[in-house]
Order: sequence, then C-alpha cells, then structure tokens
Amino acid sequence: MLYIGSHTSFLKDKQLLGVVEESLSYNSNAFMFYTGSNQSTLRFPVDKELTKEAHALMIENNIDKNNCIVHAPFIINLANNSDPDKYNFYINFLKQELNRCIELDIRKMVLHPGSYTTLSRTEGIKNIANGLNIALKNINGVELLLEYMSGKGTEVGSSIDDLKGIFDLLDSDVKEKVFVCLDTCHMNDSGVDIKDIDKFLDEFDEKIGIDKIKCVHINDSYNIIGSHKDRHANFGYGTIGFDNLINVIYNKRLDNIPKILETPWINRNERDAWAPYKQEIEMIRKKEFVDYINL
Ligand code: FE
Ligand code: FE
Ligand code: ZN
Repeated sequence: MLYIGSHTSFLKDKQLLGVVEESLSYNSNAFMFYTGSNQSTLRFPVDKELTKEAHALMIENNIDKNNCIVHAPFIINLANNSDPDKYNFYINFLKQELNRCIELDIRKMVLHPGSYTTLSRTEGIKNIANGLNIALKNINGVELLLEYMSGKGTEVGSSIDDLKGIFDLLDSDVKEKVFVCLDTCHMNDSGVDIKDIDKFLDEFDEKIGIDKIKCVHINDSYNIIGSHKDRHANFGYGTIGFDNLINVIYNKRLDNIPKILETPWINRNERDAWAPYKQEIEMIRKKEFVDYINL
C-alpha cells in the first residue's frame, strides 16, 4: 500500500488539526511536521481539543496515525559534547519533544543524528548513542527515527556504517525504540546511487536490518551524487530524476512505509509561493511526470 504525504505546517491556532486539513488538501494519507519552529526550542502548549478533533478527522479520512511523523528541530545536536551544558540541554529538549509526540498521539519522530564539529566522527557516534540512551531510557511509546544525512560538513549518519555504529552502542532496551528514516536527496548527496536502490537496501539489511527503516523522505536533488550538499529539488526536476524516485516509492521492500515529500515550495521567497505537494502526489499516484512548474 502507498502511504504518501508531505511536510506540513503546525501553527499555533490550529495545531494538528491544521496539519491534517493541509494534508487532506494534497490528497495525502501520511504527513510530517515540526511541533514549532525547526530552528528554536520555543514551544506553545498542545491543545487537547484540537488534537482530539485532528485525530477524529484522520480516522474519518483513513489516515493511520502510524504513517504520521514529527520532525525534531535541527538545532538538537547530540554528536558534540564539548560543552556539557549544551549537550544536556539537547538531551532534555529531545525528551520534551518525545513527550510532546505522546501528547499529540503521533508516535514517530525523525531526528538528525548531529554534527561532530570539533570532535572526530567516532566521538560523534559515541555521543549520539549516549544521548539516545539517556533520552529514551524512560520514554516508551514513541519511535525515534535517525535520518540518513548527506554528509554536509561534519554530519554523522551519511553512511550505513555511521548508523550501524550508533545502533551498536545503544542499550538493548533503547535499541528497540530506534529506527531509521531514509532521504533520497541525502542518500544521493552522500554518494548512494538511487538507480541501484536495491544494492543499498541489501547492504542496509545485512548491517542494520531492513525492518529498521520506518520512513523515507522523497526529494530530488539539485546536486550530483556524492556532492555532500543537501539541497532538495522538486520531484523529477533534479539529478535523481522521476523514474528513479518512482522506483524507490514503489520498491516492494519499502512497501507500507510512509513516504514524505520535503521538496521546496514554488516561488519560495515570493508572495505567490505555493506548495507543490498536491501536484507531486498526483504524479506519484499516476506514475506519470507532468511539468507542473512550467505549465
Ligand atoms: Fe530532516
Ligand atoms: Fe529529510
Ligand atoms: Zn535535507
């Protein structure tokens, strides 16, 4: 079954209800959102009534909450512990966000593993695992998905081996709660040939286990394979291309896993900016490219 959706906006006045309404306007049956700013830790309280209404609307429209995802803010960085106060602050904020997922009854959260900056990759991996061991110890009922990264700067998580390194250091009770979110733009930019997705999945299965993949971000890329850049392009308008992305979405081994578009809005910085998701989802469902940007 195809579960497809996009990034959406969680705003103060409508919260999860607004997210569901936005998703329905794109014909999505999955979605993702930040529970506040993606670059700050400022959070407004979750409204119980809006949350209830949102879940009722989801049920009415056959949106399974298991295909819906929260994205943790970018600023959490578990890879560097050279400032212990900051490191602890991020661990505590991660706990808060996980509890916010429980409040919202959205039980999957994607996290960027982090950047090791002044340390080494090995230390980065150790710090991430340690941070997760602390944050997830007493929190149950939320799955944490580590995102596969492009390897921009000193990002950890831009290879299967990086992710395996983290899993290997997790306590067994925590390991059960940690999964992976792939991202086609990040994979391409990290050096993975998306054309050969099965080769990647073979290696992933051997080293980590394919059942650990719980979400796939679907983005085209502005940059060539191995560029370590991370600039998302619209579906079919980048270097990965329409057919290769369709093959990921419909890959049997990724069936039933939510696919989330994080492609850029059209005319992003202008007044008439608009979300491409309705058009992209329609192309994906029909498996047919339409040059909707230039129509
Ligand atoms: Fe992300
Ligand atoms: Fe992503
Ligand atoms: Zn990205």
